[in-house]
Amino acid sequence: MSVSSEIDMDAAMARLKGVVKQTPVLRSRLLDDHVGTEVHLKAENLQTTGAFKFRGAFNAIAALNADVRDRGIISFSSGNHAQAVARAAQLFNVPATIVMPHDAPASKRSATKAYGAEIISYDRYTESREDVAAGIRDERALTLIPPFDHLEVIAGQSTCVQELFNQSGAMDQLIISVGGGGLISGSALAAHRQNPDCQVVGVEPAAGNDVQMSLQQDQIVQIEVPETIADGQQTTSPGVHTFEIMRHHVAKVATVTDAQILETMDWLFRYQKQVVEPSGACALAALLCGEVQPVGQRVGVILSGGNVSLERFTELLQNRAAT
Ligand SMILES: *Cc1c(COP(=O)(O)O)cnc(C)c1O
Repeated sequence: MSVSSEIDMDAAMARLKGVVKQTPVLRSRLLDDHVGTEVHLKAENLQTTGAFKFRGAFNAIAALNADVRDRGIISFSSGNHAQAVARAAQLFNVPATIVMPHDAPASKRSATKAYGAEIISYDRYTESREDVAAGIRDERALTLIPPFDHLEVIAGQSTCVQELFNQSGAMDQLIISVGGGGLISGSALAAHRQNPDCQVVGVEPAAGNDVQMSLQQDQIVQIEVPETIADGQQTTSPGVHTFEIMRHHVAKVATVTDAQILETMDWLFRYQKQVVEPSGACALAALLCGEVQPVGQRVGVILSGGNVSLERFTELLQNRAAT
């Protein structure tokens, strides 16, 4: 049986009904004119916990047997998945332990703590987060909910594009930021169920194009932790399940520079009044800066997250003005 057939997108949609926000789809005449086709921006920066990650985390925790779930959840993440797991666990009233890099953005650490999770720090340049998390999981008999390489997480992420298609109709092209590939895997499966011809394009930061290289070489490529402002995409390789789905459903992966991401954050603030974090602006950056050519009548772009502090946001955009 293929991985795709094990992903229950309808069950995820049912579990998340009334729990996740149906985020708005933003339109801009300026953007349509610039790109030359209709662009539909799915504003997941406005999702509960500030990113699409809540969809996958909640679905994965909801899918567990109650007795397993009650023992507690453990996860590892640089931020948005951590907040999502912490909040979802809180909604089920079960304990959450999150393994986070010591240099994760302070705003993401404090938000995770505020949802009642216990945080355990590790050094992302010298330690493996998988090993740290696995050790604690075994010691405390917890259930691990990884950030992307998990069937119920992928199913949960699929609900974003299911929703977009319900709101705006089927898209001819989807442009989606890629870290480990959970969001784009779920999105592509949802899109192709309704429109097999939809072109699904991924976007990575240029400094960390592990998924682009993996698809080009048709094998999982491992890279060093990339140095980029896009902290939601500092993954070092795609997952086993996500790679398998992306091989079949993703047409290509483009890359954008940090400068292009900043230009797009500026654009979103100026013209859409949206605060979007670097990874959240990554997909639109590719379209806005011409790294991806639009296809068809309707192009869907996910603004995947908005978790950036005021200090970080202003610092990033001011430094850009200076250079
Ligand atoms: C996690 C994340 C991504 C990447 O998602 P994957 O499922 O790992 O590919 C993109 N943008 C934001 C804001 C994220 O938090």
